[in-house]
Amino acid sequence: MAQGDSLNFVEITPENPPNMNLIRVALDVPLSTLFDYKVNDAMQLAIGQRVVVPFGRKEVVGIAMEWVEQSDLEMARIKTIVRVLDDVPPLPAETLALLRFCSDYYHYPIGMTALAALPTRLRDIEPIVLKQSLVYNLSEAGRALDVEALPKRRVVQQRILLALSKASMTGTQLRELSASAPAALKLLIEAGWVEASPQSPLSNSLPQAGERTNEKGNFYSLAHTLTSEQQHAVDAVTQTKGFACFLLHGITGSGKTEVYVHLMDAMLRRGGQVLLLVPEINLTPQLENYFRSRFPDVELVSLHSGLADGERAQNWLKAQSGAARIVLGTRLAVFTPLPKLSLILVDEEHDASFKQQDGLRYSARDVAIFRANQRSVPIVLGSATPSLESWHNAQSGRYTLLKLTQRAVQPATLPMVRCLDVGQLPLQDGLSEPLLTAIGTRLQRKEQSLIFINRRGYAPVLMCTACGWLSECKHCAGKMVLHLKDRTLRCHHCGAQQRVPHACPTCGDADLKPVGMGTQRIEEALQARFPQARILRVDRDSTRNKGAWDAMRKRIHDGEADILVGTQMLAKGHDFPNLTLVGVLNPDGGLYSADFRASEKLFAQLTQVGGRAGRADKVGEVIVQTAFPTHPLFQALRAHDYAAWAKILLAERQSAGFPPFMFQVLLSAESQQESAAMAFLRKARNAAVELKKQIEVYGVIPAAMPKRANHYRAQLLVQSDSRKSLQNFLREWKPQLDAMPTQRIRWSLDIDPLEF
Ligand code: ADP
Ligand code: ZN
Ligand code: ZN
Repeated sequence: MAQGDSLNFVEITPENPPNMNLIRVALDVPLSTLFDYKVNDAMQLAIGQRVVVPFGRKEVVGIAMEWVEQSDLEMARIKTIVRVLDDVPPLPAETLALLRFCSDYYHYPIGMTALAALPTRLRDIEPIVLKQSLVYNLSEAGRALDVEALPKRRVVQQRILLALSKASMTGTQLRELSASAPAALKLLIEAGWVEASPQSPLSNSLPQAGERTNEKGNFYSLAHTLTSEQQHAVDAVTQTKGFACFLLHGITGSGKTEVYVHLMDAMLRRGGQVLLLVPEINLTPQLENYFRSRFPDVELVSLHSGLADGERAQNWLKAQSGAARIVLGTRLAVFTPLPKLSLILVDEEHDASFKQQDGLRYSARDVAIFRANQRSVPIVLGSATPSLESWHNAQSGRYTLLKLTQRAVQPATLPMVRCLDVGQLPLQDGLSEPLLTAIGTRLQRKEQSLIFINRRGYAPVLMCTACGWLSECKHCAGKMVLHLKDRTLRCHHCGAQQRVPHACPTCGDADLKPVGMGTQRIEEALQARFPQARILRVDRDSTRNKGAWDAMRKRIHDGEADILVGTQMLAKGHDFPNLTLVGVLNPDGGLYSADFRASEKLFAQLTQVGGRAGRADKVGEVIVQTAFPTHPLFQALRAHDYAAWAKILLAERQSAGFPPFMFQVLLSAESQQESAAMAFLRKARNAAVELKKQIEVYGVIPAAMPKRANHYRAQLLVQSDSRKSLQNFLREWKPQLDAMPTQRIRWSLDIDPLEF
């Protein structure tokens, strides 16, 4: 789709033709059709508006998609719209076309596609009421105050006064200064030093500020002088007319963000809006604040799952109204209506979190490319380790490759990568002596180390030494992970949990042993070896509470931790300037996996985690413990040569007949009865073969995780070297699937699947 062919879409005219009183509405129901409703003459209705309609015995929200002259249904059976929701402007025709395209391409019901793209709050039958928020300023008395002279215990008040002396702020912004800001603010208002005034709900912009540029006429502040590579990238994008897709391949620390800032500035000057998509885990308050600080007088909103429903709807509306000029968002933000859209940026474009794994299984990156094409604007995909799909497109000339080969800050150099052969070295609790020594050296130098292991918990499995019993999950085809902190066995697939048994459930022997390493066990081993060290464990368990990860990041940044032990969560995010050593434990599972993308992901992960080492003025070191030190992946990692590695992978993919040389669709089915899932898939397979299209149909096989939460899972892969042929095939196959009896099974189609 987006990474290639463009499709035509139907023009929809928003006007309400006077003699029409039948409308087609998209509803959140699993049928591939729109639903006809009558419109009352008195109703003012435009295409793209939300409407409340009767459906079955309920009233539900739908989106008015098109006017119709005639319905296939008898007029008498057609119901009338209950209400038109005019609380927010109608969705523009362009957004409706985008939704239709996604529904077609992903073969997902139009109504479910359309409703899934709306913020949750707008799927409610109650109209939304925009909150009028307040904006705070210093009063005259407040301005006259000597803030430094306030007593020390009033430090939060002091901070607020200082912040307000520079700019007006909203309550949300003030809360970012301190958790106790609301209380302090109340006191400041009572003292008459701070004043509150109402702010328009659709605008962030502070009354007296407005949009301002600095002396150089730029919107941004603190501009670096761009390196010549950065300047070239900025020029290439700003000089394009219409649609073009750029792949910005920049090593970690090469200043991709700076390129984004300059591109945003250029587009703001032209009066445009910019959409920056980032992976879910990267969109933190820090990132948002960073862009706010670079564009202090520009309206910026973020859109991500961490926002409350009301706030998300409000931000979305600011984007739709054109008031928000910069929109930072995760996956779902790609559907936000943006009237002045002039550039899309996709950071870490290779990140798997851009792909939705249930419901509408879209790739936000691919939809973004389609959207840029639809709007005739440029799009930039940024990464240190691009996806092979994008890299291949850059090699073939479909995308323009822009390279940043140097770290932006001198003399920061790339870290030294060293592989330790665990076949030759004894390990103690998963750690080799040279790695421990390297950590010890960092402790002496008061520098930080990061130990990366992609397994949370204490140990991946508990074993009985007498009979060989393993802690298996009763509901899944997986092992229960040992969590010693709360003495439980937990299944990471279905969430099942039980107390650690005192004796073997099979033979009664009491000698149960943890096998393998998880973050908790490494933390314990390191603490035993370095009793003085402050160790911080960062994984999904330790960061479950809201705000925990932000607090930890701050502790790391402030130097309150010596050793970090963590999963891939730690690989992303911001630089920790004092971090000089990264140790990687047990990466070998990614080298010879059944998942053909595993080694691509491993390289990306190790490059990213290695990029944490030595970002400032300190040289970094990466130590990898592996049984395969001569594997080409590690050779490329040592040489910091993504291109060499991508070349090897692409050659492999081409000879094996895998993406990006092939386009795939995965049909998955699951059922409590294994036979039911298999029977459905076999039938689906026969139907596929019978269509005799230009496609390859694989056999029906169990999924990589063949049983999860008491459901047996199996799948069928179909592929083609032509996206068009695959789509033609799907157009005939999908209705056949829809018509098959599906008692006791659940099935789904995944177009361009990333996970199997
Ligand atoms: P990336 O996103 O490519 O990993 P960043 O954008 O985070 O890299 O940049 C790394 C560091 O380099 C940041 O501290 C940034 O402020 C700095 N930087 C970026 N561009 C320049 C430049 N042209 N001159 C000086 N410093 C720069
Ligand atoms: Zn036993
Ligand atoms: Zn389970």
